[in-house]
Amino acid sequence: MNNFKQKLIRFMIGRYGMDEMYFGLVAVWFLLTVVNSFVQSTLLSLLGTAVLFYGLWRFLSRNHAKRRAENEQFLKLWRPVKNWLTFQRDRFRDRKTARYRKCKHCKAIIKLPNQKGKHTVRCPKCGERFDVRI
Ligand SMILES: [Zn+2]
Repeated sequence: MNNFKQKLIRFMIGRYGMDEMYFGLVAVWFLLTVVNSFVQSTLLSLLGTAVLFYGLWRFLSRNHAKRRAENEQFLKLWRPVKNWLTFQRDRFRDRKTARYRKCKHCKAIIKLPNQKGKHTVRCPKCGERFDVRI
């Protein structure tokens, strides 16, 4: 067992390993697999396998510069989606205690206490005052 561990460590030296894109590819593979369990499509199955092998190939790659550049491109696409998902999660979590409103001047999203009525608020980002109804 210790010998196998040593061989695995030696095999992984210089390999790229995991990054955000790797986890994204695994998530896509998992999603395709779940959908395919209902649809039973050969095309989806092949696509899922291709995505998984691409992730594995990236994981084992020794070209770190190219993999990092790919990951940066992936993050440019993923970050806005992740931020939006996080915001939706927080908004749902705070649905009983807070309301979110957009500043009319700088478009920043402001979290306000859930107190019904008309209020004048000051944007913490731009400092402008404006009226909101909750
Ligand atoms: Zn503002």
